[in-house]
Amino acid sequence: MTDIYEEIEALKAREEAAILAHYYQDGEIQELADFTGDSLKLARAATTVDQPTIVLCGVHFMAETAKMLNPAKRVLLPDLQAGCSLAESCPAPALARFQEQLRAEGRRFQTVTYINSSAAVKALSDWVVTSGNAQQVIARVPSEFEILFVPDRHLGAYLEEVTGRTMILWNGSCMVHEVFSVLDLLALKRRLPHARTIAHPECPANIREHSDFVGGTEAMLRYVASFDQPQDFLVATEANMLWQLEHKAPWHRYHAVPGIACACNKCPHMARNTLEKLRDCLVHGRPEIAWRPEFDRAREVVERSLLH
Ligand code: SF4
Repeated sequence: MTDIYEEIEALKAREEAAILAHYYQDGEIQELADFTGDSLKLARAATTVDQPTIVLCGVHFMAETAKMLNPAKRVLLPDLQAGCSLAESCPAPALARFQEQLRAEGRRFQTVTYINSSAAVKALSDWVVTSGNAQQVIARVPSEFEILFVPDRHLGAYLEEVTGRTMILWNGSCMVHEVFSVLDLLALKRRLPHARTIAHPECPANIREHSDFVGGTEAMLRYVASFDQPQDFLVATEANMLWQLEHKAPWHRYHAVPGIACACNKCPHMARNTLEKLRDCLVHGRPEIAWRPEFDRAREVVERSLLH
């Protein structure tokens, strides 16, 4: 009997498809992917794909980004309902109203938007950043402008600290990174006193301040790989990242920092994509991301910010 992995490989060849998977997808999906990465790496990878079809195993805004950078390609998302609590915390009409209000007050500002946002929000922005390139992009915002940072207030607060720029912060957050338990982190540190703690900048300040290293997922991979000797790492980001860490730097030991309500922190939106849905989207050629008018302006902003 053909197993589902063989089925997906055969369909991928038949449909001339490339699979791009985010680090927060289940390990079994990452294993099948042609490219794995954080949002920035996936956005860049999407521009280099030769195949006419991209299957984006991630959440909706990532598939939108792949489509806007590749209008001619068919972009499939295994589950169209794979959203993102952070992106949803900043609806485009609410952002447009807030920008209007700031302009009416005479404030001169540029809008810097985390990639975890809808295309409609990106279209209202001056810059789009990822956790991997935010500092470099913010350095390009002329100092005479205030910065309106959307939608993640924790990442925004972290960027205020490291760049020294004062920002107007949108009050959004990621449901996964917001719920790490500082008490459990401190208990883990007592149990493993030599362990180093690595945290994603979407985590709140009370987790970041107990961390040895704060950075996006690509930066985390580089950080752990810089230690030759086996170490213990306490990891405060989405729990599937442990698969990628174990894959790229298998000589270390990794421990997921627990959330307040559960033993680990898995993103329920990413988890909507399964092997079965990946297979089915290749069989049926849907769900497909359709081009929408706001993609034109969003594409300009993404290309200027991420690709140059
Ligand atoms: S981990 Fe958080 S930011 Fe990432 S997709 Fe899930 S809800 Fe969105």
